Amino acid sequence: MVVALNPQIEEHDGPYQTALAQYDRASRYVNIREDLIEYMRYPRREFSVNFPVRRDNGTIEMFTGYRVHHSTALGPSKGGLRYSLAVTPDEVRALAMWMTWKCALVNLPYGGAKGGVVVDPHALTQSELERLTRRYASELVPLISPHSDIPAPDMGTNSQVMAWMMDTYSMTMGYSVPAIVTGKPRHIGGSEGRTQATGRGVIICMVSALEDHNITNPTDVSIVIQGFGNVGSNAALYAHNLGYRVVAVSDVTGGLYNANGLDIPDLMDYTQVNGGTIEGYPHGDYVTNAELLTLDCDVLIPAAMEGQITRNNARDIRAKFVIEGANGPTTPDADDILNDRGIYVVPDILANAGGVIVSYFEWVQDLQAFFWNEDEIFAQLERILKRAYDETSATAKEHRIDMRTAAQVKAIKRVSDAIITRGVYP
Ligand code: NAD
Repeated sequence: MVVALNPQIEEHDGPYQTALAQYDRASRYVNIREDLIEYMRYPRREFSVNFPVRRDNGTIEMFTGYRVHHSTALGPSKGGLRYSLAVTPDEVRALAMWMTWKCALVNLPYGGAKGGVVVDPHALTQSELERLTRRYASELVPLISPHSDIPAPDMGTNSQVMAWMMDTYSMTMGYSVPAIVTGKPRHIGGSEGRTQATGRGVIICMVSALEDHNITNPTDVSIVIQGFGNVGSNAALYAHNLGYRVVAVSDVTGGLYNANGLDIPDLMDYTQVNGGTIEGYPHGDYVTNAELLTLDCDVLIPAAMEGQITRNNARDIRAKFVIEGANGPTTPDADDILNDRGIYVVPDILANAGGVIVSYFEWVQDLQAFFWNEDEIFAQLERILKRAYDETSATAKEHRIDMRTAAQVKAIKRVSDAIITRGVYP
């Protein structure tokens, strides 16, 4: 039984309001001074930049980018770069704060950061995207280094973008610096398993949550996944390979439903030759993204973007478990509704931490110039995530709170301990 903290709370629409509302809820359970609670509400530094990019037709277009370092108390800051028209300073702030809690929760020696450029990457040619990335990377040079801030891919960016970031930084330094970013292609210092890491981690957490509720037979479990990008497709594939029934998936074009389970490897092959989308795949019934979220299933995995489960649809969710692949897919109001309805939510900062965990492995391998094989990567990933799940579950039971609040309680405590031990400069 979960205690709903503040059922009267107002809807918090923006991601930063969501992040702060979650923080305010969790910090009540952490036995630390008020001034420290206030301290951790603030991002440490915020950077914004307007920069020109030459289009292929010779014209110059201006773009705006951001990078926010929320905390560096536990180590260098770590977090992805997003290319999207929806990027705003508030979104980047929220994502940076969540990175702080995520890294702390899974015990990585990192603080939290995030960055983004306001751009539709699909509207640029490959050479325009390269010039945009290289210019943005060079604007970030004063802020990033393998010892201060290490970017990674996020929505709209990929391993090629990371390769250009790494090359631009290396050209500026005069020597190769693979540890400047993670999520690079394997042959230039990337890690085995990084592409699959986040989706695989989502499923590792799902399995732990199911086992916590004595559900151990994969064929009994039906899964619905919103988003079929890096996180959604890799979660779907790993779940499928473990024997679970993935009955629906979606992307920005809409969703597909098949009660018998979709053939995920076949669907992934289809997207490869279909411009990256699931649109038109013949072996499923079309559903809208809104319908997909309320399908009858055991597990719902939102793996697309923020703000998908709100007070408007939380009462219609029929899944028994929500495992958050995306960052911030559930608003605080919706959280209350899901908790009251007994739906078990494994929060983003735990469920999607697989990505930053293998990013951490990549950084360690780059710094040591010594590489591990995929089996070692996946074994260590599972060890860290299962431990984090068990610790969070124990905290939730101890305080009789939901898993999100419990995850943040653990994370906030770790960051505040570091701040107290390091002291406040000067
Ligand atoms: P991606 O760009 O690879 O995929 C996003 C997917 O969501 C695509 O299938 C896209 O079509 C779909 N989508 C976009 N808008 C949608 C909408 N309105 N409705 C339904 N589907 C929509 O991105 P990703 O890397 O898979 O990231 C997805 C989420 O996971 C983001 O919230 C991201 O911050 C989070 N995340 C990603 C990683 C990672 O390692 N890639 C790690 C942690 C968290």
